[in-house]
Formats: sequence, C-alpha cells, structure tokens
Amino acid sequence: MKERALITGGAGFLGSHLCERLLDDGLEVIAMDNLLTGDLQNLEHLFGVEGFTFVKQDVTNFIHVAGKLDYILHFASPASPIDYLELPIQTLKVGSLGTHKVLGLAKDKGARVLMASTSECYGDPLVHPQPESYWGNVNPVGPRGVYDEAKRFAEAMTMGYHRFHGLETRIVRIFNTYGPRMRLNDGRVLPAFMAQGLRGEDMTVFGDGSQTRSFCYVDDLVEGILRLLRSDEVYPTNIGNPAEMTILQFAEKVRELTGNRSKIAFRDLPEDDPKVRQPDISKARKLLGWEPKVGLDEGLRKTLGYFQGKVAAADGRQ
Ligand code: UDP
Repeated sequence: MKERALITGGAGFLGSHLCERLLDDGLEVIAMDNLLTGDLQNLEHLFGVEGFTFVKQDVTNFIHVAGKLDYILHFASPASPIDYLELPIQTLKVGSLGTHKVLGLAKDKGARVLMASTSECYGDPLVHPQPESYWGNVNPVGPRGVYDEAKRFAEAMTMGYHRFHGLETRIVRIFNTYGPRMRLNDGRVLPAFMAQGLRGEDMTVFGDGSQTRSFCYVDDLVEGILRLLRSDEVYPTNIGNPAEMTILQFAEKVRELTGNRSKIAFRDLPEDDPKVRQPDISKARKLLGWEPKVGLDEGLRKTLGYFQGKVAAADGRQ
C-alpha cells in the first residue's frame, strides 16, 4: 500500500514543490490550503494525477482527513514580511492554532510530522553564521514578531507533542529560498527585483543594501527537507544555502540577469530587518549527507522564465 502524506500550505511556493516531489516518489498526496496566500495555479498540473487530492481548508479549524496518514508536512503560513504586516492575526493563528490541529491529527493517525520552521527563529542574530544551538534575538512586539514568535511557539508545541505523546516529529529551519512559484507581489526581495528588472524599473534596495542573506534554490531545499523527514532527528535542523551576499550585490546580480540598465533606488530599511543571515549547515551535512548543489547563477537562470511569464501575465501581455 502506498504511503500517504498531507501537506498543509500545499498550494504555496514550497508546499506545491513538496506535493510534486512526493507524488514523483510514489506517495499519495493530499494538499490542504485555504488559498489565503497560496495559489491553485501552483497545483494545476497535479489535478488529475493519480494519488493527488486537494482540500480547501483553513488548518486553524478542526481538520479531518479520511483514511490513513503516514506523514504530515506543516507548511501553511503567510511567509513574507509584507504578508505578516497585512495578515498578522492569521500568521499567529496558523503557527499556533494550526500547528496544534496538525499535531492532534498526527497523534490520531500515528503519522510523522515535519514542521516548517524558519531562520526567523534567530531574529536579528548576534551569532553568525547561525547554528541550531543559537537561541536567537527576536523582538516579540515588532512587526515581524507575529511570524517569528508563531514559529517559535510551533517549535515548542512540536517538542511538547514529541515529549508528552511520543509523537514522531521533525523540525526544519528554512532559510531564504527562491525558485518558480514564488508570488510575484509578495514583497520578498527576489520577486521584487525580478519584476523591477524585467519591467526596466529602478530596483528598490532597502537601507544601504549592506544587510546579507543566503539564497537556496527550491529543489535543494526540498531534497534536504525530505532527507530530514526520513531521518531520526527530532531537534531543529537548518536547511539553506550558506552562500552569503549583501542585498546590494543581489540586486546587481538580478539586474545583470534581466538585462536592466536602470538604477538602484535606496528605500528605508523596514523595522527589525535582520542585518545578517547565513545558515550553519554542518548538522545537515553530517546527519543527512546533504548540501545544496545549485549555485546562484544557475538557480536564477532556472527562475527567470517563470518570472517572465508572471510579469507578462500581470501586465496583460499574455
Ligand atoms: N529587500 C530589498 N528590496 C525589496 C525587498 C526586500 O532591499 O524590494 C531586502 C529586505 O529589506 C531584506 C532582504 O531584502 O533585507 C530580504 O527580504 P525578504 O523580504 O525577501 O525576506 P527576509 O529575508 O527579510 O525575511
């Protein structure tokens, strides 16, 4: 009998890639999403594929899934700084109430749960790069607090279910990831730069652009997550690409790729914007034999075509 997985946030950027990969690996997949920030277009190619089902539901309410479940991957959450500003309560609810519902369902089904956590648990980090043992520097009452604290609560809740109920749990801390199916207008840096580059607009660099991020291509991330799912590791594990760069360097890279010659326009730095971010992936290397394989140039090239299509559609050229 085939293994069966539920993916919450299945219509999102990461969720949809996970659905596709698990179907390819021979599992039955149920994607659940309330479509608040997810998009059915991300799953359109999977409708009609044998073993795939979509359920439109908000996971902060009681969830029922008929039949057995071997795995639950909890990826439902708004996930960009603009989304947290616009959806603060929903972000808090899905990380707390949604996580509770997911863990309850897993307990009922005897399923293994993988919780999508985030590098945001480290906040504006005082340790660099960030190993899993670092407890973070998070402002609970700032604009990003709704996401950071929800995810920290989700980690605590997951460990609670593991310790008290003996539930099989896994926690992945995801660092900045990019690739096809990111939302064009989610405010994140890559969609913003791609859209600006392709439209020939100024590229909006926040602050002086000296803040750093480390970008991982989505296929690498999915591979790391699935290795973690199959492993025995209960404590959080960083999955990300340690290739760190400043946002200004990143803007220049995307500008070059899109062939845009217009200028860089500096804008105010958002509140609590982390100054540095780079995963320490020693644990994933050792434990999972995993490391990213797709370099930034290759990953951006793979992503460009997707954004060209999105920008053309948004601008009514398709
Ligand atoms: N950023 C930027 N211009 C934009 C959007 C974002 O300079 O149009 C910066 C943002 O201030 C942050 C970095 O890019 O320092 C990454 O932002 P993103 O929203 O992608 O996610 P974060 O890593 O902050 O969660």
